[in-house]
Amino acid sequence: MYDCIIVGSSVAGISAAINLKIRKKDFLLLGNKDFSPKVQKAELIQNYVGMPDISGCELSGALKEHLEKMKIEITEARVNSIMSLGDYFMLSAGSDVYESKTIILATGVEFSKKIEGEDTFLGRGVSYCATCDGMFYRGKTIAVVGSSKEAEKELWYLAELANTVYYFPLYKAEETAVKQENITIVSERPVKLSGKERVTEIEDKTGKIWNIDGVFFLKDALAPSALLNGLENDGMHIVVDRNMRTNIPGCFACGDCTGRPYQYMKAAGEGNIAAHSVVDFLTN
Ligand SMILES: Cc1cc2nc3c(=O)[nH]c(=O)nc-3n(C[C@H](O)[C@H](O)[C@H](O)COP(=O)(O)OP(=O)(O)OC[C@H]3O[C@@H](n4cnc5c(N)ncnc54)[C@H](O)[C@@H]3O)c2cc1C
Repeated sequence: MYDCIIVGSSVAGISAAINLKIRKKDFLLLGNKDFSPKVQKAELIQNYVGMPDISGCELSGALKEHLEKMKIEITEARVNSIMSLGDYFMLSAGSDVYESKTIILATGVEFSKKIEGEDTFLGRGVSYCATCDGMFYRGKTIAVVGSSKEAEKELWYLAELANTVYYFPLYKAEETAVKQENITIVSERPVKLSGKERVTEIEDKTGKIWNIDGVFFLKDALAPSALLNGLENDGMHIVVDRNMRTNIPGCFACGDCTGRPYQYMKAAGEGNIAAHSVVDFLTN
């Protein structure tokens, strides 16, 4: 059982990890070794204290160096559900399960809006987790909607299972490295899902219908309510107090996932506070 598990390995999560390391806590940092597309994609950052006019790539390099210096590892994992079990938390990431006394959510914010029918068919052909549900679509036809290039790792896995994949990248289609023969790239945005018992069709912006057995939405971050049941949120953001405490004891949140302004310095500052609050929580 860990003292703390941090979900999200970008500025907020890394800031929390650095401070937990200094306070000698036993923690796990879960996320993505490439940090976040929101760090890599920034052309010019002018408001990061002490680092004027750096690019997102340079910030990534600095984060990497800092983690290496402090011997902090990122464990590559996509958490798809968290359960609060009274005095500890259980986190599932595909087939892996982790347990921790506290958690810090630093998952960023997802901008892509839900499409018509997404909520209606959730669990009836709509999935957010390739590892959890991919095997149900062995030999079938699926659509995959990817919010960023990060989604392509899960796309490869799904393409190994499914017979036919229609891939809807919500980023520039020419940025995809998709080559598999059974994947068709659809550069028009998906707008609607239809079906009876289960989803059977996905419609793109031009009105073209693609027949499917299921659809995966591979988003950069899940809605807070989808990750942890009972977590107070305003639909898009997790509600926290000044100490980054959520309404669930032992669960803290920081960074973009707690609300605007969406900024690196706010994310780093909140990560710092969340780590201190975890230390206080564990002490008390
Ligand atoms: C193009 C661009 C330029 C920007 N320029 C600036 C700027 O100049 N100055 C500025 O202050 N801000 C800028 N921003 C905003 C800044 O990028 C964000 O405020 C910042 O990245 C927020 O950090 P975060 O750690 O909260 O979340 P994010 O950077 O969004 O990272 C979230 C992390 O959580 C992980 N994650 C999400 N869900 C899960 C899950 N279920 N399981 C495991 N891991 C998960 C993701 O993989 C990622 O690692 C820019 C943003 C963009 C897109």
